[in-house]
Amino acid sequence: MSVRALWLEERALRLRDDLPLPAARAGEVLVRVRLAGVCNTDLELVRGYYPYTGVPGHEFVGVVEEAEGAREWVGRRVVGEINAACGSCPTCRAGRRTHCERRTVLGIAGRDGVFATHALLPVENLHPVPDGVPDETAVFTEPTAAALEVQAQVRVSPDDRVVVVGAGKLGNLVAQTLVATGCRLLVVGRSPRPLALLSARGILTAAADGVEPRRADLVVECTGDPEGLEIARRAVRPRGTIVLKSTYHGKAEVDMAPFVVDEITLVGSRCGPFAPALAALAGGSVDPRPLIEARYPLSEAVAAFEHAARPGALKVLVEC
Ligand SMILES: [Zn+2]
Ligand SMILES: [Zn+2]
Repeated sequence: MSVRALWLEERALRLRDDLPLPAARAGEVLVRVRLAGVCNTDLELVRGYYPYTGVPGHEFVGVVEEAEGAREWVGRRVVGEINAACGSCPTCRAGRRTHCERRTVLGIAGRDGVFATHALLPVENLHPVPDGVPDETAVFTEPTAAALEVQAQVRVSPDDRVVVVGAGKLGNLVAQTLVATGCRLLVVGRSPRPLALLSARGILTAAADGVEPRRADLVVECTGDPEGLEIARRAVRPRGTIVLKSTYHGKAEVDMAPFVVDEITLVGSRCGPFAPALAALAGGSVDPRPLIEARYPLSEAVAAFEHAARPGALKVLVEC
């Protein structure tokens, strides 16, 4: 039996039907992927910002098809954490498994991803999806978890003035998770359409010049653009915190002096906790579905990527 999958090699994507069904190693399960989401990281892989050859994709919902030694998982609808840790390096033993020195990362580093009919993940990475959560919501668990990582790292209280810079796919989810804290939230963005999605949820939005300078206790930078970092720096108050939520390609030219003079804390932020993400999606405090812009079958996954790369595109899903 073979697998149909999207294949990335030397910055080119193509569909393959000749890959063998992957063989599970000990502790791994085979997942029949149902729905996968195109993330900016996937687009960055195609642009060659990180070296990767293989099947891309890390945002998914699927059903466990084979689970040697963990048969209770077979037939269950699941989402999965993307970092596969070794469990034995000093970083793992210290409890920082998402930073494992020998980790593979689903569809990003050393492990084929989910733009495929099938994918492998360690059983310990799986989370069952509650029955009431439809696939098109569950597929957002990974980015919702990444959004919730902000609150795992920084305490947010209702008195806090919080600014989110960027209203795209990630900025939207960061804003939805933050507004649930009751904080005084403002989202800054450029194009009207994503801002309107936030306004529809009662979240305050503005253009960059509508931010009061040096007042925000916390700024979350979700654009991955040096200009976004500059907006964040202008918005944050002395002794405030800036969380960097998206990766920067190349180098950002930053005047560091204000960070020292104003004693600003910079926090890098990546993958987050799945259980609270699923709870937020199940409870409806986060509703990602308005972000869905298009759905493509796996046979048209290359076109799905082209769509997702259009400026201002929101979430593109692939039915695997
Ligand atoms: Zn992602
Ligand atoms: Zn490790």
